[in-house]
Amino acid sequence: MSEKAEHVKCLIIGSGPAGYTAAVYASRAGLEPVLYTGPEPGGQLMITTDVENYPGYPDGIMGPQMMEDFRKQAERFGTQVRMEMITKVDFTGPVHKVYTESGQEILADTVIISTGASAKWLGLESEQRLARNGGGVSACAVCDGFFYRGKEVAVVGGGDTAAEEAIYLSKLCPKVHMLVRRDELRASKIMQERVLNNENIVMHWNTSTVEVLGENEVEGVRVINNVTKEESTIPLSGFFVAIGHKPNTDIFKGWINMDETGYIQTKPDTAKTNIEGVFASGDAQDNVYRQAVTAAGTGCMAALDAERYLTDKGII
Ligand code: NDP
Repeated sequence: MSEKAEHVKCLIIGSGPAGYTAAVYASRAGLEPVLYTGPEPGGQLMITTDVENYPGYPDGIMGPQMMEDFRKQAERFGTQVRMEMITKVDFTGPVHKVYTESGQEILADTVIISTGASAKWLGLESEQRLARNGGGVSACAVCDGFFYRGKEVAVVGGGDTAAEEAIYLSKLCPKVHMLVRRDELRASKIMQERVLNNENIVMHWNTSTVEVLGENEVEGVRVINNVTKEESTIPLSGFFVAIGHKPNTDIFKGWINMDETGYIQTKPDTAKTNIEGVFASGDAQDNVYRQAVTAAGTGCMAALDAERYLTDKGII
């Protein structure tokens, strides 16, 4: 623990579109923000290829490039970007205490939470073991699909993420097994059509995973039909899990109001949380839209709310 705590007017936690947009607005407003990137600098867009739906890029842009541009724009106005994690908070007093991984205490007049969300797993022992050792279980087709070129793979899930992953993999792999636990997809109509009309994608309806097979590398998957209860095995080299996301909000539990799945609750039409001077933006508080552009929008809201709060308190 360092001797003396640093005092900042605005601390931003997270470095996706929400955090960096908050930083651009906060730094231009003179809040001298300090931004902690967290364990995945750049957030989820770092594991994306083409971003085609962010306005202003008629030809699309690569996710990592976009995040580098976001960072440069925030730094241009004086944001201090630190590649470290915040591991603990204490929101008891009017000045908020925040602790870094290395034990440094920071006192912050305002905190903007933009910690995003991470991919969910099925929770099977075999899945976790083969994900940990890089044995062919992944939650990101764009990151790892390349390794399975010309091989058979499976994607678990029936939402837009699973559809996107299956379509991406279908360009690399001759056969993509899509394992859907119900008899319909949750994905949007257009994604459903693309999946169902893709001849490299084989649908397995009412199907759940029992076990991912293979000691050190994926060799197949044992599945069960939820209606007939019949079990069968599909030989595979790669197993991709795409069943949604979990907000990265664990360190705020007990301080900040959240819904039952951990998404932070903000006051209607604001980025305000239940704690004065603490604001939330991006996927950490949004389980509905979850887009880069909406995250950026709420990052802007958080910075404007923080600026007004600091003005009202006479701090700036
Ligand atoms: P969703 O929550 O929409 O879908 C999760 C899917 O995984 C569902 O089909 C669900 O099944 C299934 N699932 C959940 N848990 C399990 C489990 N334990 N075993 C098997 N299957 C499981 O998450 P997404 O990440 O797909 O999408 C989240 C949001 O992001 C959505 O609003 C989506 O529209 C958006 N999005 C948009 C994209 C785009 O516009 N290009 C791309 C990606 C996401 P069930 O249906 O039975 O609950």
